[in-house]
Amino acid sequence: MKFVPCSFRKPKPTPPLGFGRYFTDYMFTMRYREGEGWLEPSIEPNVPVSFDLATSIFHYAQGVFEGMKAFRQPDGGLAVFRPDENWKRMNNSADRLCIPRFDEGVAEEGLEELLRLEREWVPEGKGTALYIRPAIIATRPALGVHASSEYLFFIILSPVGNYFGHGAEPTKLLVEENFCRAFPGGTGEAKCLGNYAVSLKAGELAARQGFDQVLWLDAAERKYVEEVGSMNIFFVIGGEVVTPALVGSILPGITRKSCLSILRERGYRVSERRISIDEVAEAAESGALEEAFGTGTAAVVAPVGLIRYRGHDYVVRDGKAGKITQMLYDTVTGIQNGLLPDPHGWRRRVL
Ligand SMILES: *Cc1c(COP(=O)(O)O)cnc(C)c1O
Repeated sequence: MKFVPCSFRKPKPTPPLGFGRYFTDYMFTMRYREGEGWLEPSIEPNVPVSFDLATSIFHYAQGVFEGMKAFRQPDGGLAVFRPDENWKRMNNSADRLCIPRFDEGVAEEGLEELLRLEREWVPEGKGTALYIRPAIIATRPALGVHASSEYLFFIILSPVGNYFGHGAEPTKLLVEENFCRAFPGGTGEAKCLGNYAVSLKAGELAARQGFDQVLWLDAAERKYVEEVGSMNIFFVIGGEVVTPALVGSILPGITRKSCLSILRERGYRVSERRISIDEVAEAAESGALEEAFGTGTAAVVAPVGLIRYRGHDYVVRDGKAGKITQMLYDTVTGIQNGLLPDPHGWRRRVL
């Protein structure tokens, strides 16, 4: 791995950090060229990079990304939460976008070296972390519509605070019936750039009405719940913990997967199945909807306090976090922060 030292030191930001506003001094990069494959990676100063405006990523969005976090440990060390899962998913996303697969060991080694170099940037304090953003973008400067012959893989780091600015305040969701995020045969289960571009409009209209996120329904029937803006969704209905099954148009979240493991180990009744928005609404009306929460790396486990569907506001638990929501939040963050045992080996120590 090449190393290009920085001639600068950016000032460390002071809280509140927000999400993804500050970036560290160094980045990891690795280029791909057809015929040569992935070339020698390097760690170099994180400075603006220039591209020809014909570069294909700007036109056809052939790109994928990931999101994970590194956490300060009680002994001053550093651990990343399940990075192997992110690399595996990133390669799956790459496959879907015709991007050549990369060596997951090389990515992990690069990440760990970058983190050791940037360890001073890991914030301290509850709810904070060093957010890790790997991405691959198509870099061939040509307008022909086909897979690129050149790519740039990079990792940048950003110290972050709590994802939703207002702390543990429950999330307000607006059920979206006009727009869709993903459809059968589309790219819903890939973490690709276009998925977010497509979802911005609905998100903006929902925000204007005072909602935090959109609750997406399936594209074919507009009947089954899929997920939330950047989170997977769970409901607790009459003692059963339900999350939509991964049908191809839903992003297979690693927080989702971790929560399912924790719930099953603790003996909860858990189902991954189709769940219609009518079932959720009826459960809310009858009082059977005990809890609702979203899961994702950025927010970890976020309670849902209100769901608006066809003009009706369904309030969940008077807008307070439920017991299962709180248990999952405490367990996942406890493992991440090194405050709880790690029976599954989810913490990857880098320091
Ligand atoms: C990344 C993402 C999630 C959450 O996945 P995690 O691995 O838990 O962070 C959920 N939905 C969408 C659309 C995403 O992009």
